[in-house]
Amino acid sequence: MVLQAKSWVLKQHFEGFPKVSDFQLKEEQLPEPRDGEVVLEAQFLSVDPYMRPFSRVRMQPGDVMIGTQVAKVIQSNNPSFPVGCHVISRCGWRTHTVSDGRDITQVLADWPQNVPLSHALGAIGMPGLTALYGLEEVCAIKPGETLLVNAAAGAVGSVAGQIAKIKGCTVVGSAGSDDKVAYLKELGFDQAFNYKIVSSLEEALKNASPEGYDCYFENVGGHFSSVAISQMKAFGRIAVCGGISLYNDTIPQTGPYPHLPMIFKQLKMEGFLVGRWEHKNKESLRRLLTWMQEGKLKCREHVTDGFKNMPAAFMGMLQGENIGKAIVKVFQ
Ligand code: NDP
Repeated sequence: MVLQAKSWVLKQHFEGFPKVSDFQLKEEQLPEPRDGEVVLEAQFLSVDPYMRPFSRVRMQPGDVMIGTQVAKVIQSNNPSFPVGCHVISRCGWRTHTVSDGRDITQVLADWPQNVPLSHALGAIGMPGLTALYGLEEVCAIKPGETLLVNAAAGAVGSVAGQIAKIKGCTVVGSAGSDDKVAYLKELGFDQAFNYKIVSSLEEALKNASPEGYDCYFENVGGHFSSVAISQMKAFGRIAVCGGISLYNDTIPQTGPYPHLPMIFKQLKMEGFLVGRWEHKNKESLRRLLTWMQEGKLKCREHVTDGFKNMPAAFMGMLQGENIGKAIVKVFQ
């Protein structure tokens, strides 16, 4: 079987916000799989914020854009991955890939029929795990506490807020449009506001929780972070998950610096990468899936059709077009 594989490569490093001309679509003939190898056909691809900062440190011009996909095995010389099974592959922005099996994992064997496979890139995948570990492992959040989460209508933020509700916490979320705020209310957030239209972020945070915040799930950084840190309660915990407001900066942002509120309130601030708890993933994915099936965890997707639209989907997500997980749908 002769297959033409398409891939998107990074033509040149992004300077500031990514541009269409930074990406190049390439086509190549896929080699036949050898012993132990399989051929993957992408079904859903993920576009994620980490691709922006990682492109600078993990990629060279000409490299295929990094990323994860849900793929179907369409040819197999590896008994661990029979034809027809679905896998999560970290092969990047590619339609077809020959894999030796080392960079792929099977989607949970008993994945329920009524749950779309694309959720394996969202609430029942890396973003859902990030939300879970940020709350449980980093914040060690407890029932009755108040959580602040920003980029709250996105893939990670929306799951973090819902898990905190499941755990009996009060949840405040901020997001960048009124539709997103309405969505957060629908998800059961106690308070939500549009950070783009509030006249004072400090007032908005105080109004949402006058007594302050025990935990802060940080996705944004920059100005938001400076204001939010001052609203923490004594001994508050901050899980530094992301800093999306910084990723496209050409000149690094500076202060105000967090030292004084951190010292006087004796705060704990910890950065983390979801991969730290990989050994727990199987059990954690099952917990997320159970919550979803019990109706406690809802997951919306922002789906872009067509592999040719990968760069547009990526840039749209960085600009906040998505409510829920940003996904690109390829073959069906
Ligand atoms: P989202 O689905 O939340 O999409 C990104 C969102 O960021 C946009 O929708 C937009 O929402 C918001 N945003 C964009 N620019 C700005 C800005 N300048 N200021 C404030 N908000 C902005 O993405 P994810 O849920 O996948 O990721 C959320 C965060 O988690 C990111 O920072 C990411 O890097 C981080 N992350 C970290 C991981 C880890 O292991 N540490 C793993 C996965 C993600 P809005 O309209 O609300 O502005």
